[in-house]
Amino acid sequence: MARCLVLTLLFQVYCLVSTVGLPLPLDPTELLQLGGDVGGGRLSVDPADLREASGDFGGFTRAEPLAVYHPRGAGDVAALVRAAYSTGGLRVSARGHGHSISGQAQVPGGVVVDMSHSHGRKHASRALPAYSAAVGGHYVDVWGGELWIDVLNWTLANGGLAPRSWTDYLYLSVGGTLSNAGISGQAFHHGPQINNVYELDIVTGKGETVTCSATTNSDLFFGALGGLGQFGIITRARIALEPAPRKVRWIRVLYSNFTEFTADQERLISPKHGGRRFDYVEGFVVAAEGLINNWRSSFFSPQNPVKLSSLKQHTGVLYCLEVTKNYDDSTTNAATVDQEVDALLGDLNFLPGTVFTTDLPYVDFLDRVHKAELKLRSKGMWEVPHPWLNLFVPASRIADFDRGVFHGILGSRTSGGPILIYPMNKHKWDPRSSVVTPEEEVFYLVAFLRSALPGAPQSLEELARQNRQIIDFCADARIGAKQYLPNHKSQHDWEEHFGPERWARFASLKAEYDPRAMLATGQGIFPPSADSSAPLLSDS
Ligand code: FAD
Repeated sequence: MARCLVLTLLFQVYCLVSTVGLPLPLDPTELLQLGGDVGGGRLSVDPADLREASGDFGGFTRAEPLAVYHPRGAGDVAALVRAAYSTGGLRVSARGHGHSISGQAQVPGGVVVDMSHSHGRKHASRALPAYSAAVGGHYVDVWGGELWIDVLNWTLANGGLAPRSWTDYLYLSVGGTLSNAGISGQAFHHGPQINNVYELDIVTGKGETVTCSATTNSDLFFGALGGLGQFGIITRARIALEPAPRKVRWIRVLYSNFTEFTADQERLISPKHGGRRFDYVEGFVVAAEGLINNWRSSFFSPQNPVKLSSLKQHTGVLYCLEVTKNYDDSTTNAATVDQEVDALLGDLNFLPGTVFTTDLPYVDFLDRVHKAELKLRSKGMWEVPHPWLNLFVPASRIADFDRGVFHGILGSRTSGGPILIYPMNKHKWDPRSSVVTPEEEVFYLVAFLRSALPGAPQSLEELARQNRQIIDFCADARIGAKQYLPNHKSQHDWEEHFGPERWARFASLKAEYDPRAMLATGQGIFPPSADSSAPLLSDS
């Protein structure tokens, strides 16, 4: 009843606004009086809530919403979206953990649904992991705003299970990464996170709750996976699990020759490589500032000190291959892992004397970036602008990319942060999902994870300019790269990103599931209809 009241009031507020056109300044205190904390979902115009929902990890785009909605569950999300839909299209944006770069979860003058904090949701309401041969094995049902770190801790504590496919950083929400792809060094083997989901509950842009899977409402299921939040808000995901290993052997080796580096990476992910394989394959570029001041580098010290000066004969860019082997801590397994790792490393062509190894618990490995986060936070180096650029580059052009970008555009300049580079196999990506990858079986993620630190040699503007140069280089050289976590400024660029066939499918799903184009408008893909009299996408 109380929830009904708040939604009715929200509706009335919106009607008031929309009768005179959008956007119309509304005194936030007015909305607070109308909304208030009334049980059910909580509509807030608290300045702290608005401030948080106005920004993101990128740190250079801000847009204030009218209000922030804290749902207690899927029913609240559906009620809010229904009310927004019936007003004619009040914009609504789910916010997972706000770790986007360019305002993708922001919604000026609309309502942000705070999925992550999920006020009032009780730990006890989490579902236990289960097993079903019919589903495909072990799985767990989780809230769409759950953070991956919490999913991991929960499934480990309840059966020693863990999701199979990861991101490097676990303080991201399930709905947020599934709306992109969710990739890390396991993707070559298990596919991205979107390939490791059995079922979703989605609140569509009409406020309808739809359960979908590969066999039921499959167009919505695959559309939403990698769908940039365009077709609905994911409120529940059924995640595939496996028995979790206990320990990880984590190994890094260095290369000065890019061709050998990528040949080894590609050999390691090749299905032809046989039964023996690492469990995780990544890599990164060791640019001018070397291994210091790089949040991927902590591993090299203190047990494994490495100085670039000791590699002086290799001038310029170095490349680091990073692999892991999982094992449990029984003596037999520990002995076997030595043999397996030696055999796998024996096939590789890295620089002699550059093997850096450490053993650690599986959870510590998965949660490695958080440790770096805490260090950076303590030095005031986390909450700074992050002009990140992520590209998928086809394997056939990765050497051209190296020449043009690492040796050309970047040259001896500092990169401003880690540059990841690792390959994946396209056949592990379901072609029915919405995510766009290059037209080749093997493609690389190249991730420029930059921070614009105060007083650093390169300003935010300069790093952003460099990103533009890299994108332009790829276009001019016809590299065939696709942006991951894409950010395009015009509809034409979006259409080019998808290509004609995929764009037609994406637009038709949008017309069906979010006809007023009111969801996740921060992605900038479809212009929202300005008022209730505007034609629905499906009418056009
Ligand atoms: P938000 O930024 O809150 O939202 C992203 C988009 O998804 C928005 O458009 C939003 O409206 C929409 N959305 C959010 N929740 C839902 C939902 N429940 N249903 C539907 N739509 C929703 N990505 C990788 O693949 N691999 C990595 O290793 C990786 N590492 C990262 C490390 C760091 C430090 C950071 C900041 C990001 C990293 N990312 C990585 C990128 C990350 O996957 C995306 O930024 C993702 O969108 C972040 O999730 P979020 O929960 O913060 O989403």
